[in-house]
Amino acid sequence: MRILVVSDVHSNLEALDAVLADAERGGPIEAIWCAGDIVGYGPDPDAVIGTLRARGVSAVAGNHDLAVCGKMPLDDFNAVAAEAAVWTERHIGDTARDYLATLPLTASPRREVTMVHGSLRSPEWEYLLSAEQAAAQFALQQTPYSIIGHSHLQFWMEERDGQPPRICVADDGAALPLGETRLILNPGSSGQPRDGDPRAGYMLYDDAAAAVTWHRVDYDASVTHRKIVEAGLPPYLGSRLLIGR
Ligand code: ZN
Repeated sequence: MRILVVSDVHSNLEALDAVLADAERGGPIEAIWCAGDIVGYGPDPDAVIGTLRARGVSAVAGNHDLAVCGKMPLDDFNAVAAEAAVWTERHIGDTARDYLATLPLTASPRREVTMVHGSLRSPEWEYLLSAEQAAAQFALQQTPYSIIGHSHLQFWMEERDGQPPRICVADDGAALPLGETRLILNPGSSGQPRDGDPRAGYMLYDDAAAAVTWHRVDYDASVTHRKIVEAGLPPYLGSRLLIGR
């Protein structure tokens, strides 16, 4: 089964469409998982939610999703993120908002996988980036693999006997076999990459091949940039897409 794994799509329809097309070029996609932050920052919340739901997405809630459906106060958001959340609240349709309100903080889309936006000890907020944080995640992780998002970076972390977990950046095309080693996997961000590469990120989870692979795909971020400016969202949210920061 080829499963498309995305995170932090952030209402960026152009990026999501490019990811779907690119992932399907290699064969049919049989499921889609999303590790949260479907909305926030971008101009197309309804269309992004509609596209993902039409394909039967299995998703968890990110901090932006929770803010938009009224489950999280905006106090801890920075000014630009809060402004975008307020914009999204005003523009999102009832059906899409109701859907966001149904999203769980953690999910197990497959027996061997736990999915959470930030981390298991702080699903909404923790940026899981260090070996110490990875060790804390592995201590709570009941399944061989966990999938996280939130940092908008593509990487994996491996549990090791008697040593700190190993952290590996996943470049475009990186492949990792799925075996005995327990893993934390981050597909990166489709809608707002922050590693200096503006291309949309995603991951493929292939249980037949027993491997995950990371991918990047070009899309026309200038279209999203223009939509952001025309929508009255902070222009910085558009210009950052052009440089992947
Ligand atoms: Zn995010």
